[in-house]
Amino acid sequence: MSERKRILITGAAGFLGSHLCDRFIKEGYHVIAMDNLITGRLKNIEHLFHLENFEFYNHDVSKFIHVPGNLDYILHFASPASPIDYLKIPIQTLKVGSLGIHNCLGLAKAKNARVLIASTSEVYGDPNVHPQTEEYWGNVNPVGPRGVYDEAKRFQEAMTMAYHTFHGVETRIVRIFNTYGPRMRLNDGRVLPAFIGQALRGEDLTVFGDGSQTRSFCYVDDLVEGIYRLLHSDYVYPVNIGNPDEITIADFAEEIIKLTGTNQKVIYKDLPVDDPKQRRPDITKAREILGWEPKVSRSEGLKITYDYFKSLSKQELNEVDHYNFDKYIIR
Ligand code: NAD
Ligand code: UDP
Repeated sequence: MSERKRILITGAAGFLGSHLCDRFIKEGYHVIAMDNLITGRLKNIEHLFHLENFEFYNHDVSKFIHVPGNLDYILHFASPASPIDYLKIPIQTLKVGSLGIHNCLGLAKAKNARVLIASTSEVYGDPNVHPQTEEYWGNVNPVGPRGVYDEAKRFQEAMTMAYHTFHGVETRIVRIFNTYGPRMRLNDGRVLPAFIGQALRGEDLTVFGDGSQTRSFCYVDDLVEGIYRLLHSDYVYPVNIGNPDEITIADFAEEIIKLTGTNQKVIYKDLPVDDPKQRRPDITKAREILGWEPKVSRSEGLKITYDYFKSLSKQELNEVDHYNFDKYIIR
């Protein structure tokens, strides 16, 4: 008897997936969350388990996906997302970006559902165009360590467009730029949890390379709003969603030192292979098509995120995975 719209969210127990679950629950949807917990955690969504309009399937979406009943929307967010994660599980990363999206698109076709896929600024590789517009085709090394992620995401976009043009499936593609916020895994190796974790444990902050490479960090609530608008728009080509406020990694480390009040210093380590030198989204399309732009400044977003990390137990804080990047470092 429920009139609720039904949405399948893959990667639902991850950082972004869990925030998307919250948003669609808040909007009154019936949320079907799916995740195999390879990099995500049930803790991120356990507060939703008591709701009658929320269900969870522990399933690997690279295998055939069965969902009973009708479906209106599918958000495909399942994929390892941090360089450490996809270096550790490269084959699963390639599979979820290829077999996983194929299963999602097949399911969408069968259920007449609209699909939105999580693509990434990594499709631009180490970009020669700055800031990155959606028209730029990128500079990706397919056989480098990041190739497993970047090429999976590029294939995912191609497969999605093919299902749109050949089968008429309704599709949307979001290219997400570095996003942060509560529920990031402290040990996923991404720069923000790495720096905050180091500050909280009283370790020096590890800047890779000379720290002159740039990133542009978007707070998770802004990203979720952009995704929500894109899903409900009629635009089928990729749209960048990110915050154009660009900063060098060395300056970012200083910001974290100030934020946390740590007495530790910055130490420099080798730069991983193919680490993009600069990254900033051109968000003209998002502004014009979705009427979207980020609202949360880095200082506001970092404060909320720091409060979250501070609330973690000592045990969680010390669960650090010192992954060895050495064999990938050439410069
Ligand atoms: P995350 O690791 O926190 O979440 C990914 C989730 O996908 C995890 O819960 C993991 O267990 C699940 N998953 C992985 N493989 C799976 C499989 N085969 N079957 C079922 N579940 C599987 O990472 P995140 O930051 O939340 O990223 C989510 C999505 O957004 C990814 O597709 C990522 O590529 C994309 N993205 C994120 C960012 C960012 O800055 N966070 C930037 C660009 C793109
Ligand atoms: N980085 C760093 N120290 C760390 C982790 C990351 O200097 O402990 C750098 C990394 O080399 C990159 C940037 O921070 O230049 C962002 O890295 P992240 O892994 O967060 O994401 P990326 O944007 O590279 O996918």
